[in-house]
Amino acid sequence: MAVSLWNQAGVPHKGWTEVDVVDLDEPAETCGMCRSAQVRYIHVMVHADYADALRVGVHCAERMADDYAGVRETERWMRRRTAFSVKEWKRERPSGRSFLRSRKKRATVLLEKRAGGWYVLVEETGARKPRGGRKAYPSERAARMAVYEWIYPRPRVLAGKQL
Ligand SMILES: [Zn+2]
Repeated sequence: MAVSLWNQAGVPHKGWTEVDVVDLDEPAETCGMCRSAQVRYIHVMVHADYADALRVGVHCAERMADDYAGVRETERWMRRRTAFSVKEWKRERPSGRSFLRSRKKRATVLLEKRAGGWYVLVEETGARKPRGGRKAYPSERAARMAVYEWIYPRPRVLAGKQL
């Protein structure tokens, strides 16, 4: 088994900042810090005194970050995004498009499959025409996740901290 970075000199234990989250669909990656846990929900962490970003599981991320509560929040947000991508959607007939009514956004969101991928259309209450539909997503699930991020923006701790 690979050596845990927790026991390696030169690897900071504290003061890491979370910059992104990734859902791998299944536990498909070994935690970059402890190098033992198999992880599905990845937290991407950076540190001023360490050259590489580390992709780690939530338990290591909580220990590494100064902002413990922030990591818990992003973990929750990411798990809800996953749940949202498989639930809460209805199927429109006969087109087969999946749709969702968002009270928060006062809009109906439709997903449409066309050449090139999946597209998101937004019909705001009272609006004449739907808007959106410019960006193609590789799968229906990816489109649903994008809708989630529109309705429930990324936690503040991640915003504006892209690699
Ligand atoms: Zn770990």
